[in-house]
Amino acid sequence: MKYCPKCHSEYQDSATICADCQTPLVDYVPFCKKCDGDIGERDIFCPHCGVLLTERITNDNDVPECEDHPSQPAVGMCVVCGKPICRDSVQQIGGKFFCRDDSHVKLYHDYALLYRTSTEYEAAMIKANLEGTGIPVSVFSQSDHVYFVTMGDLAVVNIMVPKTRIHEAEELLKNLLASKPPFGDETTESDDKETGDGQG
Ligand SMILES: [Zn+2]
Ligand SMILES: [Zn+2]
Ligand SMILES: [Zn+2]
Ligand SMILES: [Zn+2]
Repeated sequence: MKYCPKCHSEYQDSATICADCQTPLVDYVPFCKKCDGDIGERDIFCPHCGVLLTERITNDNDVPECEDHPSQPAVGMCVVCGKPICRDSVQQIGGKFFCRDDSHVKLYHDYALLYRTSTEYEAAMIKANLEGTGIPVSVFSQSDHVYFVTMGDLAVVNIMVPKTRIHEAEELLKNLLASKPPFGDETTESDDKETGDGQG
């Protein structure tokens, strides 16, 4: 089965281009079955609602553990801080997963996601620039969590700003990203296939 990452239609394996929107098809499910949000090829959790994408986990041993209860499997991650959480640790609010830190729930309601990056350096640069203009910035890195440390470049950094400042921040970010050369040279999106370490 193939899927259109834009309109989420399903196609036969032989198809290559979406008939409706001409977008090249992908051979993984590019959307969350719970919230219909877009998900990347290598996401293990939906970045929008936080649910664990169980259909992507082929081996029981690969189920992430709850960071609070390492013997229990995670059912999702906090959509703010990215922490893997089990059934006992999760708070589900409005269909989204949060950790037990109530400040994250509050932050989610007051702040909007400005940008996601896998580059800590880029996140720090953006934070410094926005704060320089007086916009408060909250940065949450998944690499602060044990699970993502072992997963290496799967970890992403979420940069959040107050909803009231989001348009202003988006303008600044656009200019900022346009004025800088691309970060590093490793902008290889898909040419490096995952090779797995074959440990065990
Ligand atoms: Zn399409
Ligand atoms: Zn979702
Ligand atoms: Zn959290
Ligand atoms: Zn737990």
